[in-house]
Amino acid sequence: MKSVKLNWTDVSPSQYPNLKNDLELATETALNYTIGALQLFARGDKKTLLHRDRFFGKFNEDRYHVVEKTFMDIRDELLNGQMIYNVSQVSLSSTNVYGSSSPDSNNHEINIYGKFLKAPLLGQDSKFGVIIHETSHNVVDHILDQHGTYSLADTEALAKNDPDKATHCAECYEYFVEFGVQAGLISDNSVRLEPFLPKIGNLYGGGIIFYVDKTKRHGYIATPFDQSTGIIWGEYGVKVPTNLRTDSGKVATDKIIKTLGVGSYAARLCYDLELNGYSDWYLPNKWQLDKLWTQRKIVGGFTLDEDDGKESTYWTSNDHKTYPGDAWSMRFRHGTKRPDDKRKLFRVRAIRSF
Ligand SMILES: [Zn+2]
Repeated sequence: MKSVKLNWTDVSPSQYPNLKNDLELATETALNYTIGALQLFARGDKKTLLHRDRFFGKFNEDRYHVVEKTFMDIRDELLNGQMIYNVSQVSLSSTNVYGSSSPDSNNHEINIYGKFLKAPLLGQDSKFGVIIHETSHNVVDHILDQHGTYSLADTEALAKNDPDKATHCAECYEYFVEFGVQAGLISDNSVRLEPFLPKIGNLYGGGIIFYVDKTKRHGYIATPFDQSTGIIWGEYGVKVPTNLRTDSGKVATDKIIKTLGVGSYAARLCYDLELNGYSDWYLPNKWQLDKLWTQRKIVGGFTLDEDDGKESTYWTSNDHKTYPGDAWSMRFRHGTKRPDDKRKLFRVRAIRSF
């Protein structure tokens, strides 16, 4: 259990014998459910997306980055910060306020008011929700109250009509978690104290993780299905200066887009893709497609053989080093790579980095 510090002013701890326990439990619960919220945030199923839209508005990459970052800051504060709660005779006798925050104090203190004492453990305006709310003010300077109103309907209306404001609204963060728990989207299963460690096969970041690097925090995610069953690599004879040795799939895709521009071809398909709330997909390079091939059974949805008995082939983002008519592809049944005519219609599977 996370230990917290209470500053008592003009009031004796013995008058509120349960308050320290309640605050410790609320802080611990706030931390666990904030981590749960971050895990939820990385998922792409329909119920989750509707829940996100409900409190933060229609998807927009910049806005959602703000939201995700804010939840991370709340998590870090609850996990690593010293949580200090101020209680006084005056604050505790005030029964129409739950809490307030002191972002300007060195210690990010939270003032507890009388209404908090009667707040439920779970559900709307719960004790842990108040902690998330006040912590959001303390750690992120742009998080404000929603014009002093505190109702679910107002919050939902704000998300719908002014989503920019919703991403800067403390109630939206509080209600996102409280109602996420209530809806079973943030469950006890997702409650844990360690930050989420991504694993191969996890549904995460809009797709399925197929590679985690040495940091154990970063890697690659593939979409769960092919983006095309047959599309050209690009214009025959037009050389794209990709570097086989040093270009990531992302860098190579950007170079292809820059060289070939608009059109219907493999890299463009990935570049334009918007899926499960993410729009930074790209065509994997040879090395990345190799990793994806290794995890093909876990990621799933690949076609190894065509109906006509031919092996199905996937494009990589690597142009041929010298010959402008070919680019690199992979036969997926055996994982063998070779240069192929750019006009051939091969499959495409987009990936993104995390
Ligand atoms: Zn507030």
